[in-house]
Amino acid sequence: MSHAHLRSLPQLQKLMENPRAATLCDRYIRQLVVGAAREELASLRMRLLDGSGETFSEDAFFDALERALTVRTRHRLRRVVNATGIVIHTNLGRAPLAAEAVEAVREAGLGYSNLEFDLKTGERGSRYTQVENLLKSLTGAEAALVVNNNAAAVLLALSALAQGGEVVVSRGELVEIGGGFRVPDVIRQGGAALVEVGSTNKTRLGDYEAALSENTRVLLKVHPSNYRMTGFVSSVGVGELAAFAHTRSLLMMEDAGSGALVDLAKYGLPAEPVIADSVRAGADLVAFSGDKLLSGPQAGILVGRTEPIARLKRHPLVRALRIDKLSLAALEATLRLYQDEAHIQETLPVLQMITQNLATLLQRAERLAERLAALPHLGVAIRDGVGYTGGGALPGSGLPSKLVTVEVLGFKAVALAARLRACEPPVVGRLTDGVLALDVRTVTDEEFADVVDAFRSLA
Ligand SMILES: *Cc1c(COP(=O)(O)O)cnc(C)c1O
Repeated sequence: MSHAHLRSLPQLQKLMENPRAATLCDRYIRQLVVGAAREELASLRMRLLDGSGETFSEDAFFDALERALTVRTRHRLRRVVNATGIVIHTNLGRAPLAAEAVEAVREAGLGYSNLEFDLKTGERGSRYTQVENLLKSLTGAEAALVVNNNAAAVLLALSALAQGGEVVVSRGELVEIGGGFRVPDVIRQGGAALVEVGSTNKTRLGDYEAALSENTRVLLKVHPSNYRMTGFVSSVGVGELAAFAHTRSLLMMEDAGSGALVDLAKYGLPAEPVIADSVRAGADLVAFSGDKLLSGPQAGILVGRTEPIARLKRHPLVRALRIDKLSLAALEATLRLYQDEAHIQETLPVLQMITQNLATLLQRAERLAERLAALPHLGVAIRDGVGYTGGGALPGSGLPSKLVTVEVLGFKAVALAARLRACEPPVVGRLTDGVLALDVRTVTDEEFADVVDAFRSLA
């Protein structure tokens, strides 16, 4: 039976003579059409052999071919609806930008800009002046520098300040951040030797003191970011460590990870190192990311005292690690929003999302649930759940949230999740107790329509 069907499959060459193939060849390069047609034929053959396929139909074949070509030529990097409840989701592009930052990127990208041009004198200027001034005023630091990302910031700092010398770090802070950024590796890459002190759970000032040698250059403190130790633990604070470093003419640096420009405790969130506090406490250098809690573009920000920052600026790596103009434009616009601190909860997407309260989340979940329940064959419910800040910020502390769970007749949760990811735009939810759940915290009101359309397309 299936073999008779197999014989019904036309030759590739024959199919390529069809007028619909010609139309597709007008739209896409011929090689691409031939390749996709060959694959479609092969998959038809497989389906006929295992009994799941039907007799060949020319119309169905060209419909499938057209869909395959659309998918294949679609831009790969595209907008995704993040319904995971993880706000700073590294796999989904970390922090969404503020509207003002997007506008700044548009303006800087569309035409020319005064990136490295001093409009007053008509001479060459520095690309860093604007953001440096903003960072100084927002953190109280004497100087600032911005590079490609925080990993680059730490690498640059250690290369410029500790090459050939030793960097002392607590054993409780030798962490791996996602994506293979391991503190010991970065120190080695910076050309310095790592000196570990203390134990995993406890490090005292005396441990640092005992580890000093004539080669010691930097005492480094690293925010453990994506994990948290509780119980019998202690570490040395930035102020104490910086004061001690200065009695020995050493530098004290902090890798704050996400860091925060404002105190999140004001919004009822767990404390995260506030950059201005570290500066005030005496850190010579503080490094943090642009696209974590800051809600800006990918960037590595360094603030601190004039002298060490000046040494960083002179280092050859600074050119290799430099930030591009689009990120710089977005960063400057984002930092300007922090100048109006009273409104950052509305203007900065990350803060807006992590500070949504349960009453608002419930209201929004109800609105989404109502729209979904109007579609046929869906079982919709609302339940309590937990989301996360992500990006290594506020580790260990979940964000209590409201989830809309959806069950679709005839779909297992895993298959449903896959179908939603194949929609345009893709919708990425999460599985909770074997049920597909959408956390409304990370979905905007405008995106509710995308979610509803995605479920409608399943019918
Ligand atoms: C996230 C993080 C980094 C890396 O920052 P990127 O901006 O992703 O390069 C480095 N150190 C700490 C402590 C972090 O949390």
